[in-house]
Amino acid sequence: MTLRRAFLLVCLPVVFLFTLSPIIIDDAFCAITTSVGEPFRGCLINGVKFPSNMHGYKLGDEDRSYTTPEVVGALLDAFERFGERYPDSCDLFLGHFSRKGGGRLGGHESHQNGRDVDIGLFAKNNLQLDGFVPMDSKILDVSKTWHMIQCLLETQSVQTIYLDKSIQSQLYKYALGEGADRDLLSRVFTNAGGRGETECIMQHEPGHRNHMHIRFVAPWSTLAAREKDPQTRMVIESAQLCYLPRRVDYYVRENDKDLSKLTKVFGVRYKDLRKWNSLFENQIPRPGERVVFYLFGTKPPVQLARSLKGVTETTPPLSPVRGGNTIALP
Ligand SMILES: [Zn+2]
Repeated sequence: MTLRRAFLLVCLPVVFLFTLSPIIIDDAFCAITTSVGEPFRGCLINGVKFPSNMHGYKLGDEDRSYTTPEVVGALLDAFERFGERYPDSCDLFLGHFSRKGGGRLGGHESHQNGRDVDIGLFAKNNLQLDGFVPMDSKILDVSKTWHMIQCLLETQSVQTIYLDKSIQSQLYKYALGEGADRDLLSRVFTNAGGRGETECIMQHEPGHRNHMHIRFVAPWSTLAAREKDPQTRMVIESAQLCYLPRRVDYYVRENDKDLSKLTKVFGVRYKDLRKWNSLFENQIPRPGERVVFYLFGTKPPVQLARSLKGVTETTPPLSPVRGGNTIALP
């Protein structure tokens, strides 16, 4: 045992007794993303910049797009699912995540530890919005917005959605008319009955008529703030990598004459492949040239993080049990 390690083992439990904040034990272990503290009083260590080159969204501010791998994975999954139903949809505008390192972010009480994201709403007529636009029944595309919310919920990574009541009621009426599962509705909407507002995923926040503020769970990144055991931290690091897109470099061969065939082999969209490689329409890379593509979608179960150590605040999204007294203003 090295002196440094012995020091850490002896001293850190003592330090922990005198501080109520989580301990990050050693920079050497901090290749992993760590979500420290609360969304309204915390920070983000080794935050991941949300990718700007995937499909389905438009990133508002890259300097304020740092987050946890879990949020990256959940959002990309949601956009992937959404794109299956609305392949020709305009992009959704994404506002602030956290800043690099987290902590206070101008204009927000929360957004401090990499779990909060402001997401725009869809307007009718597939109108591309390049910012947050206040919505009412004349403008809001209820169908697309509700479907996007469903895709987000299916990721099992959403803790809370803050949205103005006027928008919530439009979504609820639409979902009801669509024959959405009653149990799902009662867990999502206050006005569906059965639960108090603080127990529902969707919560009213005044002024949120132009976007929804989504608070995600990030069990691995939260666990990282408490976990000192190096082996467990290696498990956390591996788990976090599973949420992130993996870049693959492919070198074009002589018989690769058709780019669209390659997209099928890679399992990616043709327009994405063009974007990632700055290719013109119908341009075929020459043999030997590199083509980059990204794969994502394999994720470790959230339950594994919980089983390694209780991550109590990362409530399962479809069975929320909230204390109700520690909700920060988004
Ligand atoms: Zn927000």
